[in-house]
Formats: sequence, structure tokens, C-alpha cells
Amino acid sequence: MLAGGVGGARFALGLRDATAAADDIRIVANVGDDVWLAGVKVCPDLDSLLYALAGVGDTERGWGRAGESERVAAELTAYGVGWPWFTLGDLDLGTHLARSAMLRDGATLTEATARLAARWPIGATLLPATDDEVPTHVVTDEGTMHFEEWWVRTRAQVPARRFVQHGLERSRISPAARAVIADADVILLAPSNPVVSIGTILGIPGVRDALETATAPIVGVSPIIGGRAVRGMAAACLDTIGVEADAAAVAAHYGARSRGGLLDGWLLAEEDAGSLERVEALGIRAAARPLWLTAGEPAAQVARDALELSAAVRASAPAG
Ligand code: GDP
Ligand code: CA
Repeated sequence: MLAGGVGGARFALGLRDATAAADDIRIVANVGDDVWLAGVKVCPDLDSLLYALAGVGDTERGWGRAGESERVAAELTAYGVGWPWFTLGDLDLGTHLARSAMLRDGATLTEATARLAARWPIGATLLPATDDEVPTHVVTDEGTMHFEEWWVRTRAQVPARRFVQHGLERSRISPAARAVIADADVILLAPSNPVVSIGTILGIPGVRDALETATAPIVGVSPIIGGRAVRGMAAACLDTIGVEADAAAVAAHYGARSRGGLLDGWLLAEEDAGSLERVEALGIRAAARPLWLTAGEPAAQVARDALELSAAVRASAPAG
């Protein structure tokens, strides 16, 4: 699966619950939100996925570690280091320190992520989409800022003119991400932010190519429910690229694989069942199901429905 943070983590938990232990879940994660802060490398989406799968995330706040304390963050603020509105909890800082130490010792982000994940039986392989740095910046009338500053400090309230991933042209898909895409039986797009999560992954040179040549069906899960980007501010990102916060509009943005786009299938919310025909008319097989990723059975059922749609795509594909 390709994934961002929160939507990615909720869907990943559902997928793990829905599949057998022998099934091999490989997650190619967005790294566009990554930032060096107070001397350490923070990877918000990889960490959301890691903490959720490890069962150590703060499910109430929706980010960071459960049982967190913030003594170090208070010291950093007293020194005027870092972003006071971007709290790095003590346990979370342990992750960033460990990751940064590994990177400074010469590990790739893929290797560092594997070593962090090895601490817990997470039941999935976590892979950054690239080992290169592709930090997303937001161009606004108040200046250009890192994506996390726009997202967390301004709560996406300052209109974003453009998103720019620094270093994107020079980046490469990681060899491990390329291999798992080529090798996959099914490729799922988590219901993650289509612009700054999935969009950033797709923009990394080599990713589109890997997806185009993959033999697996590609099925996306809609991040839109009832014409709204739920749990967050993703609508502001869609607005910037001129895509409506609408299940069919997002499907059209990804495009049909048979017509040079990405998707073989699109699972949309039952609330958006009225868009089924519009999606099918794009050349994308569609189904409408409950898409609220509530922990436990509901999230697992979303994953089963996505896998069922993948199987239907495969069954209808011409032989060879
Ligand atoms: P981020 O990196 O933390 O912003 O998280 P992602 O990019 O992975 O996902 C954010 C998106 O997930 C939101 O914009 C929503 O559209 C979507 N999302 C969140 N909760 C749900 C849910 O319960 N169901 C579905 N279908 N989408 C959701
Ligand atoms: Ca993110």
C-alpha cells in the first residue's frame, strides 16, 4: 500500500486485521512531511504508521506516543530551539534521536526505518518511498514555509498557492520501494491526502514507472466521505490544485490506468454512491461501501472491501 500518516495508519491497521498472518503487507510511505528540527530528523508519516502498527500511538490525540511527557520540549522552547507549536514529546524524541544517529552513521532512511520498526512486531514492512529528502514547501502570500509549519502552525488557514517538493527532480524511488511495487499481488492506495501524501509519493521519479509496469491491480480507497475530506484539512490541499473535494473528482485526478492514469479500481464511500457511474465512466471499476476507518471491525471491513474490489479487477482483466 501507498500511504500518508493518519489515513494511512488507520487503513494499515484495518488491512493487518483483515489479512492472514502469512500475508505480507508492505507500506510505501510519504516522506514529504519530513523535517530536520532541533537537530533531529522527524518523519511524521512514517512515525504515525510505526506507532499505530506497534500499538504505542496516542489514539486520543491522533499523533505521537501514548503516555507521552514533554520535559525535553520545554527545555528546547526555553532555548528558543525548534518550533514551539510543534511539540516533540520525550518518547517521540527518542525515535528521532535514534533515527538521526543511524543516518549520521551512514544508514539510508530505508535501513534506519527497518531498524526502528524491528523493535516491535508490527506485522508489516515500512518503507520510505525514497531515501532522498523531498520536503514539501507551501507557497503562500505570507511567504514560503515548510508543509508542517503551514499545516500545524497555520492550521492550513493561510491560502496555499502552490506545493513544491524541494529536491524532487533529483530524487529517486528507493530500490526497496521499487521492488515491492513490482512484486505486489495487490497495490492499494490508502485513503490518504491525494496532494501532499499520495501526490508526493507519485511525484518521485521512478514511482509512476514502477506502478505502470506492476502486474498487480491498483485500487484506491477514497479519502472523501459525503463530499468532505474527513478528519483534517485535506480539502485545502485539493483546493490548491484545483480538484474538488469529491470522490469522483479525486478518482478523475488519479485517472484510469487503462487511459494512462493510475487506478484500476476506486472504493468510494456509501454516502457517495451517487458518484459510482461517473467513476465507472472514467474507466475505473468502482464500488460504494462504508469507509469510516473506525478501529477494529469497521476498518478491517474497509480493507476487505478494497481487496474484494482488487479481486474483481483481476478477474475482469484480459488474460496475459
Ligand atoms: P496525514 O499524513 O496525517 O495527513 O494523513 P494521510 O495523508 O494518510 O490521510 C489524511 C486523510 O485521511 C484525510 O484527509 C482524510 O481524507 C482521510 N481519512 C481520515 N480518516 C478517514 C476515514 O475514517 N475514512 C476515510 N475513507 N478516510 C479518512
Ligand atoms: Ca502527512
